[in-house]
Amino acid sequence: MRRKEKRLLQFAGLLIAALLFLPNVGLWSLYRDRVFDNSPDTVDGPGGIPVIQGLNRMGKDAQVGRDGVRRKDWHDYDAIKRDASRSGNGEQGKAFPLSEADRVDQAYRENGFNIYVSDRISLNRSLPDIRHANCKQKLYGEKLPNTSIIIPFHNEGWSSLLRTVHSVLNRSPPQLIAEVILVDDFSDKEHLKVALEEYMVRMPKVRILRTKKREGLIRTRLLGAAAAKGEVITFLDSHCEANVNWLPPLLDRIAQNRKSIVCPMIDVIDHDNFGYETQAGDAMRGAFDWEMYYKRIPIPSELQKEDPSEPFESPVMAGGLFAVDRKWFWELGGYDTGLEIWGGEQYEISFKVWMCGGRMEDIPCSRVGHIYRKYVPYKVPGGVSLARVFTFGWREDIRVGDPMHTKKVCFDAISHNSPVTLYDCHGMKGNQLWRYRKDKSLYHPVSNSCIDSSPTERRIFMNTCDPGSPSQQWLFERTNATVLERFNRGNN
Ligand code: UDP
Ligand code: MN
Repeated sequence: MRRKEKRLLQFAGLLIAALLFLPNVGLWSLYRDRVFDNSPDTVDGPGGIPVIQGLNRMGKDAQVGRDGVRRKDWHDYDAIKRDASRSGNGEQGKAFPLSEADRVDQAYRENGFNIYVSDRISLNRSLPDIRHANCKQKLYGEKLPNTSIIIPFHNEGWSSLLRTVHSVLNRSPPQLIAEVILVDDFSDKEHLKVALEEYMVRMPKVRILRTKKREGLIRTRLLGAAAAKGEVITFLDSHCEANVNWLPPLLDRIAQNRKSIVCPMIDVIDHDNFGYETQAGDAMRGAFDWEMYYKRIPIPSELQKEDPSEPFESPVMAGGLFAVDRKWFWELGGYDTGLEIWGGEQYEISFKVWMCGGRMEDIPCSRVGHIYRKYVPYKVPGGVSLARVFTFGWREDIRVGDPMHTKKVCFDAISHNSPVTLYDCHGMKGNQLWRYRKDKSLYHPVSNSCIDSSPTERRIFMNTCDPGSPSQQWLFERTNATVLERFNRGNN
C-alpha cells in the first residue's frame, strides 16, 4: 500500500510539473502570448522569427521572437471585411467607367488628373489587396513608435485631398497615428480655406498649417516636420490612398533601426479613371542617370531576397512617400531649405542617409497608391523646377557636372587598355578627346580604342573597338546630328 501511495504521489508530482512547464498542455498554453522555441508547431519565418502555423485570425495572438521582441498581427480584420463588402464606382480600386463628358480637358486642368471622376468615387473607397501573399502572415512589433503624417498640398482637389486623409485614418491602427498635419502651401482655391477647416473639425487628429507665402514642396514639408510631435514622421503626397496594413511594416523597420528611412511601394492611381494598379515591374530599386533623372531599375539577382515580400535596400528613394524617425530626420539636417518647388530633394536626403550611417529601404508589404498626374497643373514661380543636376555633356570631352559649375571633371583614358577615370577637364583634347560614332561607340582617337563596359565587374575601361559588341554601345538621349557630324568631320 505504502509503495502504491508513493507511486501515486510521484505520478501526481510529474503531472503538476507537466502542467506547469510543458508548452502545449501546460499553463503556458493558457497565455495568449507564447514564447517560442523550436517546438513542432512553429516554423522559422524570415529573419529567423518563428511564425505560427494557422495564425489566430482575430489578430490578437502575439509571439516573442528570439530577439526578445513581441510581435503581433496588426491586420484590422473587421475593416478588411467591411472593405470587401463595398461595391460601387471605383470600389475595390476598379477603373471608373468614363463617359465622353468626363473626358473633357476641363476635368484635368486644375489638378492634372480627372477631378470629375475623383469627385464621384467614395472618400472611403476600398482597394484591392495586391500585396505579396506572404504579407498576410507577417507579424510586427507589438510596441511600435507612433507617427505624424505630413501631407503638403498646393491647390489640391477637394476629393483627392480628403480621400488621402480618409484612407490613412481608415487603414491605420489609431494608436499609431499621433496626428495628421495638412500643410497648405499658399493655395488660393476657396475649398481649401474655411470649408476644409470646418470639415476637419470632425477629425480631431487632423491639424492644418499654412505657409505665409508659396514655399514649394520642400519648405512646406519642413514646416510640417517642425511642428510634428510623433516619434516618426511619415510624408505623403496630397493625392494618395493608403492600402491595407500599410503602416506597421514601415514603423517596424524604424523600430528595429532608427536610422532606416523606409518607403512604401508606390502603386499607380490612374489619372483618367482612378483604377488602382501596381507599377510596371513592381519591385525595383531607385536609381538615377547622369542627368539626375530618377529611374527605377531591376534589382540585381544577387540582391534579390528569397522572400520577395521582405524589405530591400534602395540607393535613392522616389521622393514623396516615406517614413523617418523624427529625431534622425533632424540629425540629418532635414532638407536643404534652398530647394525650390520640387525636384532633387530625394537625392539630397538619400545621400545624407547613406553617408551618415543610415539605410534606405523599400517595404513590399506596405503599399500606397499615388495619382501620377497627366501634367503639372500649377505654376512654378521662377519658371522651371530645379533639380540639382549633373549633365553628361558631350562636347570634345565628356563632362560630368552641371555646365554652370566652374569645376568640371572629364572622362580621361591613358591607353588602349587602361581604365576610364575622371580627371579635371583640361580642354586640351588629348586624353580627354572623345568621339561619338554612328555605330554608338565612344571612340578615343589618341589610343585608337573604344570605351568598353563590364557589367559583372561594374567598370568601364578602354578596349579594342568592336562595333558588334553590345558592351561598347552607348545610348545618347539628346544629340544634335548637325553639330555631331561637323565635329566628327573636323577631327578625322
Ligand atoms: N506641393 C506643394 N507645393 C508646391 C508644389 C507641390 O506643397 O509648390 C505638394 C503637392 O500638393 C504634393 C506634393 O507637394 O502633395 C508633391 O507635388 P506633386 O504631387 O505635384 O509632385 P509629383 O508627385 O507630381 O512629382
Ligand atoms: Mn504627387
